[in-house]
Amino acid sequence: MKTDRKTIVVSEFIDASAIESLQRHFDVRADATLVERPETLRERLADADALIVRNRTQVTAALLDAAPRLAVVGRLGVGLDNIDVGACDARGIEVIPATGANARAVAEYVIATSLMLLRGAYLSSAAVAQGRWPRTALSGGREVAGSTMAVIGFGGIGQLVAQLAHGLGMQVVGHDPHVPADAACWREQRVQCVSFADALRAADVVSVHVPLVDGTRNLLGAAPLSTLKPHAVVINTSRGGVIDESALADALRHARIGGAALDVFADEPLKAGSPLADAPNLILTPHIAGLTLQSNERVSTLIASRVTTALLDAARDAMNPHGAST
Ligand code: NAD
Repeated sequence: MKTDRKTIVVSEFIDASAIESLQRHFDVRADATLVERPETLRERLADADALIVRNRTQVTAALLDAAPRLAVVGRLGVGLDNIDVGACDARGIEVIPATGANARAVAEYVIATSLMLLRGAYLSSAAVAQGRWPRTALSGGREVAGSTMAVIGFGGIGQLVAQLAHGLGMQVVGHDPHVPADAACWREQRVQCVSFADALRAADVVSVHVPLVDGTRNLLGAAPLSTLKPHAVVINTSRGGVIDESALADALRHARIGGAALDVFADEPLKAGSPLADAPNLILTPHIAGLTLQSNERVSTLIASRVTTALLDAARDAMNPHGAST
């Protein structure tokens, strides 16, 4: 039977301390397997007041129809492409992302893969262990200092990547059609605001930090990739679909670019037969750029706290619908 306590459903993994903090005020049904059991998730949502997800639970209008009491969706991350925000708005459901809480983890991934790919020397363990000595083959690596980082998408993560790249002595150029060229952030971060084409032409490293929307789908397709320097490396931690995977695999296979690191894919997990499977100089990771012990704790704590505030505020408003004017 439903008590007065509000109910929160968590359908993917969340830090244990965040569950404890939510349980102080609410009934919490946290089950990381719910994302794989859509029918059970729908049943659990029948009397839920809030839903907390990562990036795998598809929060569609149909799912919201199964959750008539839902007031809040908390997102343990930042991209909202798995959430039908329009459908949430239409139902008065507040969507709360963990803005900024995993930016450091992503930015460090970009720096680490930049260092690895430009230097090209760190994947020789098997050869060295077997007694081979590929010193000549690996002696042409590049230092990042003095190289140019092109940041595509100058939001929270793009700006942090710029800061860290400066720390390593890199020059940074950036492109973002929604951040005006006279916006203070370009000056503050010492980043030259340039066109998309100029950013690619200047780049030794291209790092993509845009949302997946109609205007960014296949942003890095065959034509833009063909303008990169032959040693340039491409890093995508934003969303699959922003880079044309076949065109990228082709550019790697024909050594038209120096390397790539991909954390996100158009179809996750990557399917057998993907053109990326046997492309050279390619680092593939399973959508973990934003996931570290520390970021998981920060993301979970932030979402637990903001969902708590939203539900308690809503309860207060329901008890006092005319505001605090008494
Ligand atoms: P943000 O909203 O702060 O910044 C995104 C920026 O992209 C905005 O400034 C926007 O103006 C810009 N942009 C939009 N269209 C553009 C275009 N056509 N060209 C250039 N710039 C454009 O977002 P953020 O927090 O910096 O996150 C960036 C991306 O990283 C998102 O896609 C997010 O989902 C993804 N992300 C991935 C992971 C991971 O684990 N791999 C973790 C966190 C975030």
